[in-house]
Amino acid sequence: MAPEIGSTTPVTPKGLLAIFAHPDDESYGAGGVMALAAAAGNPVWVLCMTNGDQGGRPGEMDVDHSLDPEIRRNELACACSELGVAEPIFLGYRDSGMEGWGAPEGSLARAPQDEVVDRILAVIRRLRPAVIVTFDPGGVYGHPDHTACSATATAAYRRAAGELGGPVALYHQAMPRSAVAAMQAAMAEERHRAGDDTPPSEDDLRQAEAFQKLARPDEEITTVVPITAVIERKVAALACHDSQMRGRRWDDPEQRAQLEQMFGRETFVRVDPAPTPGEMEDRFVALTWGD
Ligand SMILES: [Zn+2]
Repeated sequence: MAPEIGSTTPVTPKGLLAIFAHPDDESYGAGGVMALAAAAGNPVWVLCMTNGDQGGRPGEMDVDHSLDPEIRRNELACACSELGVAEPIFLGYRDSGMEGWGAPEGSLARAPQDEVVDRILAVIRRLRPAVIVTFDPGGVYGHPDHTACSATATAAYRRAAGELGGPVALYHQAMPRSAVAAMQAAMAEERHRAGDDTPPSEDDLRQAEAFQKLARPDEEITTVVPITAVIERKVAALACHDSQMRGRRWDDPEQRAQLEQMFGRETFVRVDPAPTPGEMEDRFVALTWGD
């Protein structure tokens, strides 16, 4: 049937939009998936909700955590380039800092939720991605910006998914419980190897406990993506976030086994379309994927 005069051709959604809270969240959580999707020809974007400007002294309480926002914005641009994805998009909120630090004026935690959802929705309508990935509701370890990011990005997805040309799949990045202890041991070993033998700070301990508590039961994970094919890209992207690395490096070829244990797969819960009971997949629906 010929289209009616005045009708518009529906836009077919395409590619992947990763919505995260701070520069570096994207590389830890979904850097491999983004690199794989981009290498296979999908458009891939990162929407970063804050400037990460409270990341100056990670892991320490009672100090000034502020950091020139340009530093972390540039680090994210570097990471996007290493992952082979588009230049990052920022919503420009200030980083709220960890719980108990007191969220500053202009931070994501103090922004009205409706305003944030509307701004994300505007980005989705402009880019027309097929798939959206964001944090799961616990935000992996409960950072106030992570939980706000999950709630607002999920709400924006729900609204956009009902529109013509809207996204067709939503994934939440989540850690399975079984992976948390192994990851924490590997991170501690890496810190030790980097010569950092300072005892964990109060924030570090709180964060480690939150990781355990907020990890998802293994059976709730629907999507386990092997990313060893692009692990060098993920490591290079993480290395861009130099202000957050506290001397850690992951590019020693002798540490390959440990690297693969820490970063060799990325894990998600497919929220929409809702999975059938027991459904498992090793790639995102609606994206082409290299084999
Ligand atoms: Zn973060």
